[in-house]
Amino acid sequence: MKIRFISFISHKWLRLILLWPALVFLLSFFVFLLIDRIFPFRVPEVSWSKVVYASDSTLLHAFLSKDDKWRIPVRLDEITPGLEKAFIFKEDRLFYYHPGVNPFSVCRAVFNNITKGRRTSGASTITMQVVRLLDPAPRTYKAKIREMFRSLQLEWHLDKKEILQLYINLLPYGGNIEGVKAASLYYFAEEPRELSLAQIAMLTVIPNDPNALRPDENADLLRLKRDFWLKKMGRKALFSPAVIADALNEPFSFQRYPIVRKAPHLSYRLKKINAVSEIYTTINPSIQHRVETLSAAYVRRLRSFQIGNLAVVVVNNRTTEVEAYLGSAGFDEDAWQGQVDGVQALRSPGSALKPALYAMAFDQGLITPKMVVTDVPQNFSGYRPENYDETYRGKVSIEQALSLSLNVPAVELLNTYGVDRFNNKLAKSGFRWIASNKVKLGLSTILGGCGTTLEELTTLYAAFANEGIVQKLKYLKNENSEVADTLCSPGAAFVITDILTRLQRPDLPNHYQMAANLPKIAWKTGTSYGRRDGWAVGYNSNYTIGVWTGNFQGNGVPELNGAEFAVPLLFNIFNAIQSLQNDDWFAPTPDLDYRLVCSESGLPPDTFCVNRVIDYFLPGISPSMRCNHLEKHFVNQNQTISYCRNCIPEKGYREVMYPFLPPELIAWYSEMQIPFKAVPEHNPECPSVKATGAPTITSLTDGAEYLIFNNRKQQLMLACNTENGVTKVYWYLNDKFYKTASPNEKVFFFPDAGNYKISCTDDRGRNSDMWVRVTFI
Ligand SMILES: [Zn+2]
Ligand SMILES: [Zn+2]
Repeated sequence: MKIRFISFISHKWLRLILLWPALVFLLSFFVFLLIDRIFPFRVPEVSWSKVVYASDSTLLHAFLSKDDKWRIPVRLDEITPGLEKAFIFKEDRLFYYHPGVNPFSVCRAVFNNITKGRRTSGASTITMQVVRLLDPAPRTYKAKIREMFRSLQLEWHLDKKEILQLYINLLPYGGNIEGVKAASLYYFAEEPRELSLAQIAMLTVIPNDPNALRPDENADLLRLKRDFWLKKMGRKALFSPAVIADALNEPFSFQRYPIVRKAPHLSYRLKKINAVSEIYTTINPSIQHRVETLSAAYVRRLRSFQIGNLAVVVVNNRTTEVEAYLGSAGFDEDAWQGQVDGVQALRSPGSALKPALYAMAFDQGLITPKMVVTDVPQNFSGYRPENYDETYRGKVSIEQALSLSLNVPAVELLNTYGVDRFNNKLAKSGFRWIASNKVKLGLSTILGGCGTTLEELTTLYAAFANEGIVQKLKYLKNENSEVADTLCSPGAAFVITDILTRLQRPDLPNHYQMAANLPKIAWKTGTSYGRRDGWAVGYNSNYTIGVWTGNFQGNGVPELNGAEFAVPLLFNIFNAIQSLQNDDWFAPTPDLDYRLVCSESGLPPDTFCVNRVIDYFLPGISPSMRCNHLEKHFVNQNQTISYCRNCIPEKGYREVMYPFLPPELIAWYSEMQIPFKAVPEHNPECPSVKATGAPTITSLTDGAEYLIFNNRKQQLMLACNTENGVTKVYWYLNDKFYKTASPNEKVFFFPDAGNYKISCTDDRGRNSDMWVRVTFI
């Protein structure tokens, strides 16, 4: 075989015929590589439209490219295969076989030019067209040769699919529309994968003369051309006759569709911080659409009350992905500052931070849901908070205080918990303004005397749905979940949810009182000072939704409040996305236990406590002292005089239980003329009062030794009897001033081990001293 072959090419002329072309080819190839090295063809940077996609990869929003074009990139696998087939059929049937230039077409074109004396463009391959689209040049022979060389280079460096993808993305479609994606959206409102054959045919035709064949300029001509090519494709059996017939019958009436602009505030926000041209968000287009539609209708009601705007965030609790984001009711409504992003706008939260404080205080063992606290006017070093309805309830349970959103108990709780500790925890949970302004913040923080955003508040409430774990909201599809901090224990989160699910509350809008379509959610409202903001944030196990209503200019509206204006929209949205949710509800967590407590105090009952209720508590953390709602006093038979140990008669006295009431409650009952069972006046014949008129210290015994358990935080109590008419007493420990109190008030202190001189002076300067010893065991 080998011998025969050698002998075959040993014929001189045959050798020439075979060798020369091979040599020429090799030489040309090396020359090509050389020129390619010297004049490399770099694909110019194309300025694409930035595109924002929803979670299902449908278009949410697009922005003009830097050169003001709608040029939206699309991958080949995102377009219907018919489009590629039609383009190759119409423009370059040998596309997959030529090296960038089709030698037959070139020969034909050269021949035509010579014989007919005119230039034809038939020689252009798709590759050559791409070169021209990337680097437009005048149509001269020189330019044409350069173009052919560039095409060979393009083919050398890119594969066929890459070239075809560039082609369909760069084709002109009239005006500033470029590429099949922008054209599909703008002319047909279709994604390129959904195009019909008739639409495909139009997209292959328009680029031939984009300005004359624009559907909005010349629909009839376009239709003629469309049908011409459809019939041609039919004749060559590119598509089945039935499909061609359908396409020919497809009516075409031109309509210009605006490029979609959903979630514009989020799109602008993400565009600003993302360099990539394609941004994949977590937005669920169906929920976004429902929120937009509901809000557009709802804002009309708000505006009849001069409340101009609203903002909504919907968060999926399982993924912490934001599934809907509405910065304002209408992005283009300049009259209502529609471009302001209400999700990020800094506003006063009103009472919306209260659940966070109650959760933290529960974890600190300061409160349990049934614990009873006072709700009376109080003065916190000059700060006198008032309740929203300007009434006070005397005694309330913690769960009532939160569900009624009472201000005084919340301020008192913050005072006990500590403003700094509260603000530090909020700062760690993502509250940025609070983080940078916490030194300035006081007790009014809990009533809205601070700046927060809807985003921050929604993040906070999503933590209650997530066992107290604060997670940063996710906006981008491929972002990892980021845990910001732990807001509270799972038990505290459950207890707060339980309280916020109650329906006996003032912030249930009137017309919802009897409504059957109430969604099962935990929720809280907020109304800022001056009625500038109305908030409602709610959650179930699936979603957390935050709603803000108000005016971006910040003016208050007398009617505005979270209950009447933000809650209805919150309920509507929950009902509208009900089909996407399951019925799971939160269950008590393992760290939580329940116990019987006295309903008068919320503390474990003593023998005298009759009304007992079940309450949640954290074992080892929640308060464990026994109920003290009653205390024993020695009184005379008709209960008009009380005795102390110094003056108790040998007989004729009784032991009577009197309710223990904190002095501020006694003062308020007296002022409001609310009857209560008060301890009778102290025995005027009491020797210790009579002798000097000075106060008698009744809570401790002079010279006694008090044993204190070292490991428990035990306190000693200071109490005294005074002469009638005394309104204030002053307590001193080892001659150092300790506290001012009313004569009936019980004062406590944490003692150190050692000797104590305890002194009590009344407001007329009369003083008595006593010495005790404290020993730690
Ligand atoms: Zn009790
Ligand atoms: Zn006495």
